Amino acid sequence: MNPITSERSIHLPPGAAPVACVDLGGTKVAVTIADEHGVRGRLTEPTATVGTNDALAFQIIRLIGQSCAAAGVSVADIAAVGVASCGPFTMRNGLIELSGPNICGGLAGKERGLPNDWTTALLEAPLRQVFGNVRVENDGIAALEAERRWGALQGMDHCAYVTWSTGIGWGLCVDGRVLRGKNGNAGHAGHTFVCDNTDALCGCGNVGDVEGLIAGNAIARRFAHAGYADAAALFSAAYANDVQAQALIDGLCEVMGRAIYNLVVTLDLQRISLGGSVYWHHRDLLLPKVSAYLRNKLPALTNGVDLVSAGLGECVGDYAALALVMPA
Ligand SMILES: [Zn+2]
Repeated sequence: MNPITSERSIHLPPGAAPVACVDLGGTKVAVTIADEHGVRGRLTEPTATVGTNDALAFQIIRLIGQSCAAAGVSVADIAAVGVASCGPFTMRNGLIELSGPNICGGLAGKERGLPNDWTTALLEAPLRQVFGNVRVENDGIAALEAERRWGALQGMDHCAYVTWSTGIGWGLCVDGRVLRGKNGNAGHAGHTFVCDNTDALCGCGNVGDVEGLIAGNAIARRFAHAGYADAAALFSAAYANDVQAQALIDGLCEVMGRAIYNLVVTLDLQRISLGGSVYWHHRDLLLPKVSAYLRNKLPALTNGVDLVSAGLGECVGDYAALALVMPA
């Protein structure tokens, strides 16, 4: 059965049982219910970070119940729960727990300011006690699956999705197989190093990695002293022919271009789709600049490689969790 897609409205095939979709980020969690009538019952809350380390899982279970009520669906009829989550993950007894630096206060200690001392947040185990069919994936992997299913990566066996947003995340697919790795963390290429610049501390603790240099929140940290309070201010100045802002954006594109080049030649990719708020709002400016870093380098590996904007546009995140549990 193929899903029916129209005007970015994706719904399950007629007669398919409803599924719950959870988009879990460091600052908020969003839950929707999808069935043959479409995606409904959307609820969002700030991500739970107070109490015991099962608080987040129980927040998700409660939100699924509330989303079902809003959508007019019985919780007992939910056939599967898909969770597209920020990472990284750790495994305990084969089940995924979350070790997110913006959620677990026990990782960096009290100075980090989080209201808990968790080293992990339970995720998969409590969900499995309530729901029979649960699939948790890194949000980059989930977004890749959505782009392969409905977006710009349809029909691609060697491809990647890159989000350029608050953070930098990847989903990778080679030979038609989505790459997961030992703990489901494949695609954390935002934490690779591509240059010697050391003026940027990443939330992961690295100094000068890709995410530390070019993520949305990095732009504010690095360039506020130069008069650009955030990404919006930097890009506005560039559009107004501010030469300094244009040079800074060229520098951002160099970092992203190098990161993309490295993965293209490592994995022999054929197409990469890009999304995320920083990219999406400035894609007309950014896409040609980033693409230039692939041109004329090792042509045997880069000729014909496509960099494209996400086919699902700003809605990639909304459909990422759904892609994890969509009936085949
Ligand atoms: Zn990092």
